[in-house]
Amino acid sequence: MRRIIIAIDGYAATGKSTTARGVAEQLEYLHIDSGAMYRAAAWYLWQQGIREVDPEALPKQMEGFALDLEREGKEMIVYLGGKRLETELRRPEIGAFASEVSTVPWLRERLIAEQRRLGAEGGVVMDGRDIGTVVFPHAELKVFMQADLEARVERRYRELLSRGEATSREAIRAELTERDYRDVTRSVSPLRKAPDARILDTTFLTIPQQITQVVQWAHDLIYAPSLS
Ligand code: C5P
Repeated sequence: MRRIIIAIDGYAATGKSTTARGVAEQLEYLHIDSGAMYRAAAWYLWQQGIREVDPEALPKQMEGFALDLEREGKEMIVYLGGKRLETELRRPEIGAFASEVSTVPWLRERLIAEQRRLGAEGGVVMDGRDIGTVVFPHAELKVFMQADLEARVERRYRELLSRGEATSREAIRAELTERDYRDVTRSVSPLRKAPDARILDTTFLTIPQQITQVVQWAHDLIYAPSLS
């Protein structure tokens, strides 16, 4: 049976990674969260005390950046310098800094090459901002996720609360709005719906419903007579 590439793009906090993980589990595919790679780059700079992006200085600042992606079951775990990174990467300030760092073409080229390598053989669900437009423009299934801002604020708020992180809805609303704006307006690989992507609006959907919808679309393609 053909193992396809599923590209999931969309706005922050629409449930991309959770959906991608669930879809990968059901199809027994590998899930790759490309945002975690940008977050790891941001984390690497943050650890050096860097708080502003200087595109000229970046290649030097990133010299020791050796991203190690280990496959654990169907998940990709990010290691940096032997340290397993998980909750560190989910911190709001790292997400915000990642969206600044990710505007630098030099870094994007490097991470995109790695993403293409990881997905080259198919059987992957990759989520991000430019997967269907730039990384895998020939992906068999492209999904573009969106949801009302207030629904996204509420989800992110609950996610952070459940991890015991102090936050407010106002701070999250400001952070998401700014990040969306930056992701959509940047000149390199801006967040765009690919013309052939299917829209998945998750405002009124539960996670299981989101997963079921994408799996259904994937099955339609995988079992289509022309693909088998
Ligand atoms: O998806 P996530 O919120 O983890 O991504 C963090 C930031 O990394 C995004 O706001 C975006 O600026 C950047 N990113 C990107 N391209 C991707 C994935 C993430 O520019 N494919």
